[in-house]
Amino acid sequence: SLPSISQRMRTLNERQLEAVKQIDGPLLVLAGAGSGKTSVITTKIAYLIQTCGFKANNIVAVTFTNKAAREMKERVVGMLSKEESRGLSISTFHTLGLNILRKEFRKAGLKEGFTLFDAQDGLALVKEILDKEFNGQMDAAGFCQHTISNWKNDLIPPQEALTQADTEELQLAAQVYGQYQRYIRAYNAVDFDDLILLPVSLLISDQTLREKWQNKVRYLLVDECQDTNASQYELIRLLAGFRRCFTLVGDDDQSIYAWRGARPENLERLSVDYPNLKLVKLEQNYRSTRTILKAANTLIANNPHVYDKALWSDLGIGDPIRVMVTRNEDAESERVAAEIQARHLRHNIPYKDFAILYRGNHQARLLEIKLQAYRIPYKMNGGSSFFSRAEIKDLMGYLRLLVNPADDNAFLRVINLPRREIGPATLEKVGNLANQLHVSLFEAAGDKALDETVSGKPLQRLREFESWIQNLRQRLQKGSPIPVIEQMIHDMDYFGWLQEQASSPKAAERRIENVRFLIESIQRMMESAWEDDADAGLDHAISKLLLIDMLERQEEEEDEDKVQLLTLHASKGLEYPHVFLIGCEEELLPHRNSIENDDIEEERRLAYVGITRAKRTLCITMAAKRRQFGEEIDCLPSRFIDELPEEDLVWEGRSDESDAQKKERGKASLSALKAMLNS
Ligand code: ATP
Ligand code: MG
Repeated sequence: SLPSISQRMRTLNERQLEAVKQIDGPLLVLAGAGSGKTSVITTKIAYLIQTCGFKANNIVAVTFTNKAAREMKERVVGMLSKEESRGLSISTFHTLGLNILRKEFRKAGLKEGFTLFDAQDGLALVKEILDKEFNGQMDAAGFCQHTISNWKNDLIPPQEALTQADTEELQLAAQVYGQYQRYIRAYNAVDFDDLILLPVSLLISDQTLREKWQNKVRYLLVDECQDTNASQYELIRLLAGFRRCFTLVGDDDQSIYAWRGARPENLERLSVDYPNLKLVKLEQNYRSTRTILKAANTLIANNPHVYDKALWSDLGIGDPIRVMVTRNEDAESERVAAEIQARHLRHNIPYKDFAILYRGNHQARLLEIKLQAYRIPYKMNGGSSFFSRAEIKDLMGYLRLLVNPADDNAFLRVINLPRREIGPATLEKVGNLANQLHVSLFEAAGDKALDETVSGKPLQRLREFESWIQNLRQRLQKGSPIPVIEQMIHDMDYFGWLQEQASSPKAAERRIENVRFLIESIQRMMESAWEDDADAGLDHAISKLLLIDMLERQEEEEDEDKVQLLTLHASKGLEYPHVFLIGCEEELLPHRNSIENDDIEEERRLAYVGITRAKRTLCITMAAKRRQFGEEIDCLPSRFIDELPEEDLVWEGRSDESDAQKKERGKASLSALKAMLNS
C-alpha cells in the first residue's frame, strides 16, 4: 500500500519540512544539487492534496524537461491514490502552454485542429519567406530562426524587434519575423515558442480569461526555475496572480540554458516582484559521496556567487575520482565500454546504473560503435529519435493533415506517399491556385478552379486524394479516431507499401511495429487520466506526441536495463550511481565557442551539473589526441580538471603512470575480456 504522507514527511529534514509546510505566499527554495529540491516539490504536491484539502486539478507543477516531468509524476503517483491524482498537472512549461492553448485557441486566433511546427518545419518556413520575399538570402535562415526564437522568448513583438534591430542582419531577421508570424498563423500552426508566448499574451490582454485561469491554478510549483526564460517567468507571474501562492525551486549554479534565453537573474527579480518572498535554503546533499560533492563544490567555487551555499553529505568518503587519459578518442570510447562491461560482469552492476555524459551529441557516435561491439545495451537521449523514423514521420504527416487541412507542410510530405504519381508540375499549379485564392494546398486541391490548369490523370488522382481525406475527416468528427486511423492505413495499403520499400522482411516488420506502437501511444494518450484533458481529441493527442518528441526526441520505456548516454544539458535533475564524464578537454568542455566568447562560467556550471549526477563513482576521461577535420590534433586537459581537488584524483594513463600501475590495469582488462568470452 502507499506510504502515508506523514511517513513520507518523517524522512525529510527540518528545512525541507519547512518548505513543504509553507503554503501561504510565495516561496523560493534555493539549494545545490542533490539536496532534495525535487523531493520537496513531489512531497509538497501530496501534502497539498492529502493534508491541506487542495483538489488535484487546482495544482500545476512545471519542470524543464519531459524526462524530469515523467520522473516527477512517478514519484508523486507513488504517494497518491489514482482518485487523488486525477486532474493533476505535472508537465513541462511547453505542455502546460499547449494545454492552455488547447482550451483557448480561438481567442489566440487559431482554428480547430491547429498543429505544432517543429524546428524543421520552422526552418523550412523561414527559408520559404527568404526565398519569396528577400531575394533568396537563404544563408541567413539559421540566424533568422534563432533570432526570432530569442525575441519570442523575450516577449518582443515584430514591430519592436524592427525598431531595436541595429545591424543589417538583425533588420533582416526582424522583417522575416513579421512575415513568419503571418505565415504560421495562415497554416493554423504554432511553433515551440508560441506555446508560451500565446498563453502569456492572452493572459495579459483578456481579463476574464486571466481570472478563469488564476482561479483554476490555486497552487503553482516550478522545478529548475533557474532556467526559466522571460516568457516563462511571465507565465508564472500571471498564473500565480493575486493569490501569489507558489513554490519555486532552483539552483543558480545549474543554470545552463542562457543560450536558449534562460534568465537566471529571474531568481533575483523574484524578491523585487514579491517583497514577502520567503527563502529556504537546503544544505544536506543526499545523492553523492563526500568526495564527489567536494569536487563539485570546489569546482563551482570558481564562479562568482549571489547566494552562498555550503553543501555537505554524510554518505561516506567513497572512491576517489578517476581521471583517465587515453591515446585518442577511439581508445577513450573503447576503455569506457570495456570498463562498463567488466564492472557489469564482475560486480553485477546493472547497466542502467551507468551513465555516460558528454558535451556534444557528436561525441556519442564513436561510443555507440564501441558499446555495440561489446554488446552493451544502451539508450541515447536525443539523436536517433523514434519520431525521426520515416514511417513515423509519414504517418504523423497524415494525422496532421487529417486534423488540420491548412498544414501545407504535412500535405507536401504525404501527397506522394505511397506513390500517387502527382508530379511537381501539378503540385506547382496547386500551389499557384492556393496563393491566388489565399487558401491551403489541400483546399486548392479540391477547388473547382483547378480544372482550368490541371486535367486528366493528375486531376483525377488529386481529387481522389482530397475526397478520401475529407471522408476520413468526417468520420473523425463522429467517433473514436483509432478505427479511422486504422481504416486510413488499410485504404492506402500502407503496410504493403512498407514491405515493398524495406530492405528486408525483418526491416519491414520493424517498421510496421513502429507504426503500431505509434497508434497505441495515441490511444494511451487519449485515455490518460492526467492533466485534465478527458475531452481531448486526436488533434490534442497528436500535438502532444509531437511535443514530447521535440522535448526529448526519445520515447521508450524507462525501466530497461541499459547504459544511459546523455548530453550534459539533458542530464539535469537526474542521478546515476556511476557516471563517466567524457571528453574533458579544452575546446570540448569548456566548448571552443564559449572560450572565444569568454563564457566560461556557464561551461563550469555545465561541468558542475555533470559531476553532481554521480552518486557513487565518477570517472572523467580525456583523449590525448582527437581527430578533427581529418587531422589528429593534440588535446589539452580541461581547465576544470585543474580546478578539482588534486588529492582526490587518481590519474590513469598519464605518461607519469608507474609501470606497476600499468600492469595492474592490463590485468584488469584482460580478466574483463575473459569474463566476457565466457559469458
Ligand atoms: P538536482 O539539483 O540535481 O535537481 P535535487 O535538489 O532536486 O537535485 P533530489 O533529486 O530531490 O535533489 O534528491 C536527490 C536524492 O536525494 C534523491 O535520490 C532523493 O530521493 C534523495 N533525498 C532527498 N531528500 C532526502 C531525505 N530527506 N532523506 C533521504 N534522501 C533524500
Ligand atoms: Mg531536481
